[in-house]
Amino acid sequence: MKFISTRGEAPPVGFVDACLSGLAPDGGLYVPERWPTIAPARPDEPYVSVASRVISAFAEEELPESTVQGLCERAYANFAHQSVAPLVQWGPNRFIMELHHGPTLAFKDVAMQLIAQLFDEVLTARGQRMSVTCATSGDTGGAAAAAFAGASQVDLFILHPFERVSPVQRLFMTTTGASNVHNIAIDDDFDVCQAIVKSLFADRDFVKSSNLSGVNSINWARIAAQAVYYATAQAAMGADRPLRFIVPSGNMGDALAGYVAARCGLMAGFEAVCAVNENDTLNVLFGEGRMLRRPARATPSPAMDISVPSNFERLAFEVSGRDAEMLRRVYEQFAQSGDVELPDRIKGPLGCSGLSAASVSNAQTLAEMRQVLGETGWLICPHTAVGTHAARNLNSDGETVDIVLATAHAAKFPETVEEATGRNCPLPERVAGLTGRTEVFEKLSSEASVVRDFIEKNRRR
Ligand SMILES: *Cc1c(COP(=O)(O)O)cnc(C)c1O
Repeated sequence: MKFISTRGEAPPVGFVDACLSGLAPDGGLYVPERWPTIAPARPDEPYVSVASRVISAFAEEELPESTVQGLCERAYANFAHQSVAPLVQWGPNRFIMELHHGPTLAFKDVAMQLIAQLFDEVLTARGQRMSVTCATSGDTGGAAAAAFAGASQVDLFILHPFERVSPVQRLFMTTTGASNVHNIAIDDDFDVCQAIVKSLFADRDFVKSSNLSGVNSINWARIAAQAVYYATAQAAMGADRPLRFIVPSGNMGDALAGYVAARCGLMAGFEAVCAVNENDTLNVLFGEGRMLRRPARATPSPAMDISVPSNFERLAFEVSGRDAEMLRRVYEQFAQSGDVELPDRIKGPLGCSGLSAASVSNAQTLAEMRQVLGETGWLICPHTAVGTHAARNLNSDGETVDIVLATAHAAKFPETVEEATGRNCPLPERVAGLTGRTEVFEKLSSEASVVRDFIEKNRRR
């Protein structure tokens, strides 16, 4: 199986190279050259078995299925719930899929745990070391730190904005105690952290000499790993039951994974509503067919404070009939003006893709957290609340089951939970030790060269 770029100007690569490099060299995103057919999950099939079948369909001849099975076993052994992504009933024909049973209490763990196993496996086989870097506004950094801690072939460099991430989020990054996890606190905001990482990747000599890679949300391995829980949800609800997913969305990686599951034959049908906060560019994309760049504003659901949903490019590629040339034009124009009217060849079929969007205001999010507590006694995280609120506003046909993805545990956002509900939300026991541990991070200025030198000095040879 080869992977091609959505911009059509990069040579096709195999699964391992697509995952190790993240972004394609022409600036596009990797997608499989064709969609494999994967047998749906069986109701009694263990999560790890479904995961290894899904990953193997993409890794094909590159990694034996027994190797993939081993990676998945190790990745999901660190989850506190044996079904990894359990469903709980929230109302008639309404469920919540809990994706927060991983080591850092957010759904990013589902993919990151697998990526870390995959990277270490293939780099060991190739006799290579890699420097992995990511900029984080919160959850990705913690998930990456937990996943890569102790990895033999990878040195991880996480950039977070100094004093601008929540205390719990910071503790997940800074207390691993692992010598291969390096936390860099940049004395500026998240956008600056991201710009630094971008300029590191623009330095081709440095990328080569340090074998630099990234694990951001456009990495194909993340999409593939996330397709798995859509398949297990279908199996749990019955093979023929129509499902509609409500997906709290930022970069749209999670929702796109559902689309991928459907394309591979894992779903009976497919509908997903991307629930976004006041950063509602996805809503404008689906509603008006316009792609806009707007400065992201702070909301109670910070992991979704994203202005440009990067994975939309994969969907646009598909619905346009894989017209790479058109995508190149659209994204070039977008890079220049930050405001593009989608061509009819994208806009038209977008409405039939099964995906749509809905936006939820800050006030609605907080009120929703209160309402769910009153109805069920549950404390939910603000991202999940964006999803449950969007779900309430959907029409029901009496048959379709709505499944809201709970993307993080409420205890990760105790300040917001307290503001919305007046309740205290302590960390679950399995991570309660977090607060007593020593934090390790390096505070650096926001010059890319300083960060580059830090990586150069600290990476293993
Ligand atoms: C990352 C994240 C999201 C958004 O997921 P995307 O794949 O970027 O759409 C939603 N909720 C939480 C808690 C997250 O960490």
